[in-house]
Amino acid sequence: MKRDAIIGGVMGVIIGDALGLPVQFMTKTEIKKNPITDMTGGGATGLEPGAWSDDSSLTLCLAESLYEVGYNPADIARRFVMWYRDGYLTPLGKSFDIGETTEIAMKRLIHGVAPFKAGPTDANSNGNGSLMRILPATLFFAHESDYTMIQRICEVSKITHGHPRSQLACSLYSLFVRELLKGSSPQKAYDTMRLKSQTVFFIDRKIGKQLSHFKRIISGELPDLDESDIKSGGYVVESLEAALWSFLTTSSFEDAVLKAVNLGWDTDTVGAITGSMAGVHYGFSNIPDHWLRKLLDYEKIMSLTNQFAERILQTK
Ligand SMILES: [Mg+2]
Repeated sequence: MKRDAIIGGVMGVIIGDALGLPVQFMTKTEIKKNPITDMTGGGATGLEPGAWSDDSSLTLCLAESLYEVGYNPADIARRFVMWYRDGYLTPLGKSFDIGETTEIAMKRLIHGVAPFKAGPTDANSNGNGSLMRILPATLFFAHESDYTMIQRICEVSKITHGHPRSQLACSLYSLFVRELLKGSSPQKAYDTMRLKSQTVFFIDRKIGKQLSHFKRIISGELPDLDESDIKSGGYVVESLEAALWSFLTTSSFEDAVLKAVNLGWDTDTVGAITGSMAGVHYGFSNIPDHWLRKLLDYEKIMSLTNQFAERILQTK
């Protein structure tokens, strides 16, 4: 595993989040009048350029927990609550842009519910809130067997998102990103993920049964779809589709994340997920420096990300 890919993935989340945040909830048509080409700030949120949101904060909480104490779900949950309640690992000193399902989970954790039981399990609780922050777990468990990696990924999802569809989205994402980490081309990684998706049935039938909701991904047709067919809302299936589509139809980090955020709707999260894929594949060295330098708390997040990468490289 290369340091450039690990750091690129984590920083890719934050760059995608920061690029998309100013146009969050705008439609594709609205954004097209004035497309995002740079880290602007402003917009609906009125934040300064380089501000980042929940997607990045929870990704950083997870990465920090994994490098400081290893895999410990109670510690991950504890840091998520610190983010929610105290603004831990936020650029503005308070948590914001909190998803509904994540908020329910945080309140349950505060009331003493066990981490794996905290995430709501009803079918309406399938926002992208666990997918957007799962990357550090993917990187941490990438050396494990499919079975173990998927088990762990599902557990980490359940801290905020307990429905099998959310768990499956995180599993498919992890199967894909792991191939990118190995150095496979995006198309090869996509094909391998599609092939391996069927093994989820053997790991957990309940989760495997959700594969029908990911038909456009599993069939292989996704990259050939027209932009007008890609929705990019907060529903976890739409977000995964939009991120994969943006990444598979471009050939640089910049193009992938800009294509993603210009799709509209849940721009920061779709940007973050796309940024994670593109960051792993193209590497940190291919993320534009002028974007990195604009990120709020740049030194702090770089130091955290470096320590996370160090831990992974030491143990694998
Ligand atoms: Mg956000």
